[in-house]
Amino acid sequence: MELQQYWQAIQEKICHRCLDGDPNGVCRLPAGEECTLNSFLPQMVVTLANVQSNSMDAYVSALRRHVCILCDHQRADMACRKRDDLECALDRYYPLIVEIVETVRETMANDEHPSQSH
Ligand code: SF4
Ligand code: SF4
Repeated sequence: MELQQYWQAIQEKICHRCLDGDPNGVCRLPAGEECTLNSFLPQMVVTLANVQSNSMDAYVSALRRHVCILCDHQRADMACRKRDDLECALDRYYPLIVEIVETVRETMANDEHPSQSH
């Protein structure tokens, strides 16, 4: 899986507008804190590849079920303080993330099978 392509697209499209980034897209998270988009990139990409829906709720619920469940911040009742306090980039930007991940996946598929895109 070309995770680097997904990460590059996320950095290009999200980091410069992220609450934890500067206008140049440099991450300003404190030392010792890792961006959830980076920590859970593989799980995020796989999870989103398995959802086909017009409803954003379906994507959110899949991310909660398959990604948040792996995160130390989620409590046993599935609540999350970071989510509530808007401190999690995954939760803050999920509509954009869904769009970015799907675009990168389609671009890679077209690059692999160019004739099928026509
Ligand atoms: S928290 Fe994540 S999305 Fe935000 S600037 Fe840092 S790396 Fe980018
Ligand atoms: S919303 Fe909470 S549990 Fe889910 S990835 Fe973010 S910090 Fe972790």
